Amino acid sequence: MNDYFRNKIQKELENIKDMECQNLINELKKEPYYLENKLERYLEYSKVNNKKKIKDIIREVNSNRDFPFYHHLISAEPSKKELILVNKYYYLKDNYIPPLVEMEKNYAQGLNRKITKETYYYFKAMVNKARQDKIILYSVSGFRSYEYQKKLYQDYVLKDGEKVADTYSARAGHSEHETGYAIDINTTFSSAHFEDSKEFLWLQKNASKYGFILRYPQDKENITGFKFEPWHYRFVGIKVAQYLKVHALTLEEYYAYFVENK
Ligand SMILES: [Zn+2]
Repeated sequence: MNDYFRNKIQKELENIKDMECQNLINELKKEPYYLENKLERYLEYSKVNNKKKIKDIIREVNSNRDFPFYHHLISAEPSKKELILVNKYYYLKDNYIPPLVEMEKNYAQGLNRKITKETYYYFKAMVNKARQDKIILYSVSGFRSYEYQKKLYQDYVLKDGEKVADTYSARAGHSEHETGYAIDINTTFSSAHFEDSKEFLWLQKNASKYGFILRYPQDKENITGFKFEPWHYRFVGIKVAQYLKVHALTLEEYYAYFVENK
């Protein structure tokens, strides 16, 4: 083949590539949670994940999943209050302690009975309403300090190894329990099958009315980085909780578009 044809073919290939790229950009821009400042990352990510749906490219990049867990560290923002995001990318400092109140014993068991004031206010309202419906709810774990989380995670690593421990326990600085806005309700044992209980069904129906979300749903492990935890609820306020429920969004996705993007 002579140079003339070689160049011609090369040029045509480039044109096709440009057109494909432009089509992809157009598709990306049509998505509801598209973020202009992440365009390059969407394009990079779709190059290596060309079988993924456009919606998932957006969802995953917005949740930083184009980086491996714990490899793209961002300082968490306590100023965001109940919308703070803490996960395998966003971390809190080792000395972080939010303002806390202690839950009364008829609302909480165990050692970690502290929680932020507004979380407690809405949790109490929810527990009281549940009792009227003959559903008994109580906290088994509220706020946990960095040091406490560190010990907890290390114990799990000793028991199950790092890889398995990472699927169900957060490393210190990366646990939502350090924010004071998360509560484990009634159990933390997957062997308890809390998802099959009437208490879980009640929460499915009612938690968002009190501003709580099921933080680690069954089908969102790839986004949240955690296995399904039917007992772990996170206070985000009523409006946001209802939005997340209606749109089946995780806090990661919501945060990228509505909180960080502001
Ligand atoms: Zn939890």
